[in-house]
Amino acid sequence: VNDGPAIGIDVGGTFIKAAVVDSRGTIMGAARRPSQSRDGFETTIGQAAAAAEEAIGQAGVQRSDLLGIGLGVPGIHRSRDGVTVWNPNFGDGWRNKRVAEAFTKALDLAAFMDNDVNVACLGESEFGAGRGVKNLMMITLGTGIGGAIVVDGELVLGATEGAGEIGHTIVEPDGPECCCGGRGCLEVLAAKHPIINRALAKIGSGRRSSLDSLPPDEVTPALIVEAAGNGDAVACEVVLETAYYIGLGLTNAVNLLNPEMIIIGGGIAQAGEILFEPIRRVVRERALPYSSQACRIVPAQLGEEAGVIGGATLARREMARRTPA
Ligand SMILES: [Zn+2]
Repeated sequence: VNDGPAIGIDVGGTFIKAAVVDSRGTIMGAARRPSQSRDGFETTIGQAAAAAEEAIGQAGVQRSDLLGIGLGVPGIHRSRDGVTVWNPNFGDGWRNKRVAEAFTKALDLAAFMDNDVNVACLGESEFGAGRGVKNLMMITLGTGIGGAIVVDGELVLGATEGAGEIGHTIVEPDGPECCCGGRGCLEVLAAKHPIINRALAKIGSGRRSSLDSLPPDEVTPALIVEAAGNGDAVACEVVLETAYYIGLGLTNAVNLLNPEMIIIGGGIAQAGEILFEPIRRVVRERALPYSSQACRIVPAQLGEEAGVIGGATLARREMARRTPA
């Protein structure tokens, strides 16, 4: 019954991506539409529905063959009720909105939703780096730092669906202030802008670096990693400091959850061994030995497609729960 294709929709702040995905995780058709924070709720739903219709057409499937829709949406949700409480990308227009219901109306299919990081994690755990792994954690590194937890093959949501927020675990008790009101959160020390700012501060203090020929607003984590790969001392320091903080965050996760695997996703995760090796070293040195030995720390495999593949996985799983065996 649940072997048919499903639609995954990734409702991002720049693009809304939709794909028809078969039961093996293969994308049969995909489309995207631009999205902007000033778009109202109805406009964004309309754009998403149009992308889904295009993906269905491209996949050449009948609507009646589709199991349903799974949505990955940033923000805070009551996902079992299909409600977004707050969406940081789209602001007040998305407060307390019945998102799943809106998609069911627009596309005439059952719709299910969850946090975007949870959905990406579901995709990675079913069809990506975490295939066959029952206990894992995913961390996404980007403008922010997100996380998701899978225990015994199921996502852990927590009391108010805030489980897995590793970006707001504390790795420097008196560190810089975070948008959450706390101090020294992993996110204010190892997300995109803190990485760039650390490099700029070192260059600003007069250190020589291959990055100092660039205008400050053109320095990116990718360029810092590249410079580190070429032996640039300032860039190497920045990478090692970043790995140190991520390693501390993951050490806490390893000791708390004893996962078999931690999947690192997001743009910065493309850095490869130059970042992963020092992260693994910090975890090996600091986490409980039996727990750290059992935990593989690996890059994500699905890249930008984790969201739509995970969305389709969410729809398939939720439909299976509703179908008597
Ligand atoms: Zn925080």
